[in-house]
Amino acid sequence: MHTHNSAIPNIQSVVASHQDFNEPYGSLTKKALELGCEQAIVIHTNTITTARWVQLKCKYGCDEYGKKLTCPPHAPSYEEMKDILKEYNKAMLLHGHLSWQMRYIVSEMEKMAFSVGFYKAFGLGAGPCKLCENCETTSPCIHATEARPSMEACGIDVYQTARNHSLKIETLKTKDDEVNIFGLVLLE
Ligand code: SF4
Repeated sequence: MHTHNSAIPNIQSVVASHQDFNEPYGSLTKKALELGCEQAIVIHTNTITTARWVQLKCKYGCDEYGKKLTCPPHAPSYEEMKDILKEYNKAMLLHGHLSWQMRYIVSEMEKMAFSVGFYKAFGLGAGPCKLCENCETTSPCIHATEARPSMEACGIDVYQTARNHSLKIETLKTKDDEVNIFGLVLLE
């Protein structure tokens, strides 16, 4: 049973998240690390936490709200993402330190996943899209195969999802704190 809202994954889910070097996951994991990820783990989608409050942080905390086609309210809603996650069983959770790099990595990883047979592959990055200086939100995206919404733009609680897999993420207390950035590639 999928329990996307559960902050605490069941034991089976936790045991099932790991660095999987068996094919086809092995090639994907290797590619993610080559592209600059610190960690890349295969997870069950029932360990991805979604929450309605996440998009509040976009609407009342981000200057880019409404200005990018990959951001709310143009991005999939929390309700849509909950339904979308039910259509997948596995995903690759990616850990890095730079949001621009993570946006590039999820786009590349989605393409590679598709090429090795994951025909439903879809990447979710981190932060607002920066591919164009000005995003024309009344027209379709002009880089539709590269631009991807962030996890948080679609109502995914990135903190809890990372913590469900014992990955490091904390709120920043000073500007010198290490930033932990996450991306996700939905696989199958
Ligand atoms: S690629 Fe350009 S048009 Fe597409 S979402 Fe990003 S900024 Fe907007």
